[in-house]
Amino acid sequence: MKAVNLPVSAGMNERNNLTVGGCDLAGLAKEFGTPLYIMDERTVRERCREYVKCFRANYPNTEVVFACKALCVTGILEIIASEGLGFDVSSGGELYTALRAKADPKKLYFHGNNKSPGEIRAGLSAGVGRFVVDNIYELKNLDAATRELGLRAEVLVRVNPGIEAHTHEFVQTGKVDSKFGVPLDQLAVLVKEVKKLELVSLKGFHAHIGSQIFDFAPFAAEAKLLLELTQEYGTAEIDLGGGLGIPYLASDQLPPIEEFARQVTAVLKGKTEAKLVLEPGRSIVGQAGVTLYAVGAVREIPGVRKYLIVDGGMSDNPRYVLYGAQYEAYPVSHPDAPRDETVTIAGRFCESGDLIIKDGKLPAVKAGELIAVAATGAYNYSMASNYNRVPRPAMVVVSRGRAELAVKRESYEDLVSNDAI
Ligand SMILES: *Cc1c(COP(=O)(O)O)cnc(C)c1O
Repeated sequence: MKAVNLPVSAGMNERNNLTVGGCDLAGLAKEFGTPLYIMDERTVRERCREYVKCFRANYPNTEVVFACKALCVTGILEIIASEGLGFDVSSGGELYTALRAKADPKKLYFHGNNKSPGEIRAGLSAGVGRFVVDNIYELKNLDAATRELGLRAEVLVRVNPGIEAHTHEFVQTGKVDSKFGVPLDQLAVLVKEVKKLELVSLKGFHAHIGSQIFDFAPFAAEAKLLLELTQEYGTAEIDLGGGLGIPYLASDQLPPIEEFARQVTAVLKGKTEAKLVLEPGRSIVGQAGVTLYAVGAVREIPGVRKYLIVDGGMSDNPRYVLYGAQYEAYPVSHPDAPRDETVTIAGRFCESGDLIIKDGKLPAVKAGELIAVAATGAYNYSMASNYNRVPRPAMVVVSRGRAELAVKRESYEDLVSNDAI
């Protein structure tokens, strides 16, 4: 069972069941319950290695850091850290988790467009390698915190490059009208401010143009712009952010990291010695994850639509609701059967819009059967909620026939544990 939207270890066993990491998904449902997030260790490791290898082959002075917000779980960050990657953290909570996963603080890039003074102090005390300054207000807070603690901060300035990438509006971040980054016409003023500060030093520039991007041209334009700023200000680091897309559907084209690396580094090669930083999130963990659901009610509205209602939905995967994101599902039993039905996979939550897949093609699936939704490793668990007071699912990491619990399933007791009255 090979498909570009499934983990690299996906297969089918002698019972004709879908397997990931050598584990039968029906067995995982029995052992851990559903819904269940399943993460394939091999896919995560392969993606980390591919990034590092492809970029360093073209441009040796490259550092790859994982954007934690895509999936911030101690066990997953440990796997990624063991591949030598650093982390992009964008909140105190992500910083805390990365440190708990024993990340090297020097390889942490602290992002965010409104870090609180407390978060800034936590970052300084932890010794994070880089603060990414988003605006002048934040720079003032950073300056105050460095003087208060007597600690130095090395910063990248996030610029808003005014580049439009072809992706969903909500995940587009680099166009002129954006809440992120310093507009180019205000950059000189901000850099001048940074240079005045005693304990803050400017290392370079950062931009992040959006997410789920398949087209390399906007990245090349971004690299060119940051190269020009690097030359203009004599800085030493170019941080291109993340944003590379992944195939959500089996018919999607896999954007080859190798080609991405070639095109981006071609802009820089021979023109600068600056360190290149990449911050992939989705393209490290997205394809490694599948979500396992049990199908409950099947509602067929003749001539209108057939609904399969699953035991999860928008609280474990809000991406259809947020962006109309597309997914594909595989039945656990006979995942390779012909996809001759058009069905809508709906969740159990009290919103009509709570869908996972609208009008997708699937083999016939009956009530009580299991389905696996592909490519849910990024921005699913990390965006999960407790809507309708539904406990968040467990997560297992699978590898070589073994499944290890990475996140426990929440209990009702967990749900009320912060209710103070
Ligand atoms: C979200 C984000 C990333 C990761 O984006 P992906 O699309 O998941 O690769 C990297 N850097 C910054 C600053 C981000 O905000």
